[in-house]
Amino acid sequence: MTMRREMLQELDLWPIWRLRNSAAATPLRETPDLECALPSPHVDCRSGLSPTPRAEARPTGLDATGRREAILSMDWRELKQAVATCTACRLHENRTQTVFGVGDEQADWLFVGEGPGAEEDQQGEPFVGQAGKLLDNMLAAIHLKRGGNVYIANTVKCRPPGNRNPQADEMAACEPYLVRQIALLQPKLIVALGKVAAQGLLGGDRSIASLRGTLHQAHGIPLVVTYHPAYLLRSLPDKARAWEDLCFAVRTMHGLQTDALAAS
Ligand code: URA
Ligand code: SF4
Repeated sequence: MTMRREMLQELDLWPIWRLRNSAAATPLRETPDLECALPSPHVDCRSGLSPTPRAEARPTGLDATGRREAILSMDWRELKQAVATCTACRLHENRTQTVFGVGDEQADWLFVGEGPGAEEDQQGEPFVGQAGKLLDNMLAAIHLKRGGNVYIANTVKCRPPGNRNPQADEMAACEPYLVRQIALLQPKLIVALGKVAAQGLLGGDRSIASLRGTLHQAHGIPLVVTYHPAYLLRSLPDKARAWEDLCFAVRTMHGLQTDALAAS
């Protein structure tokens, strides 16, 4: 049995994934094969993409605007340091440690979740608990793995107490860090996992059901929306929809990589 089939079984998607004609998502471009046609694992076509240039001077004693501007000019090292010591919202009070993000800093793919849970708070890495195992399986099903052309981050970097949703002011306080991560990474595609990530990146208050299947844009980067893995652990039927979303994401990525290659 192939690795891929095992992964799809793990996701409870085998053999559902073969029923291709019911795809709910409108593809960015039609692929001749209605199967989830996967491109080669990594096409490096990052030419022409460069992070936002750094500001020359950086203010110290900062108001909200100054803080945001300072964050938006940081390099990776400065950004990691700023997050590690951040006290900009009440979520710092109960954290064990911040959870910055993990993965390939040259990645084409960026997956964004909600915020650290108990295990992430303990280990300092996103998606290491039960939901993380499912995310790893979702990645493997599309030939990706943590650290290899994938970066994983969260909307807020500190664990909300009792795993409640982050509140609007907490998301606003933490947002510049994710914006800077996106600018430094320059991923080709963002996958927003669940409603909190979708709202954080796109604004508004729309449901996952109404956002999925469409190509959005956040901070100049194409973005697709799918269900949060923690939700999928509780809702078996939506795993098949999540698989459709991943296929849509793969088709979209394939198109973006092909376009970038053609332009280079
Ligand atoms: N859920 C999230 O949204 N992020 C994590 O890092 C873990 C669980
Ligand atoms: Fe700072 Fe974000 Fe943690 Fe709030 S959640 S304290 S803004 S790092």
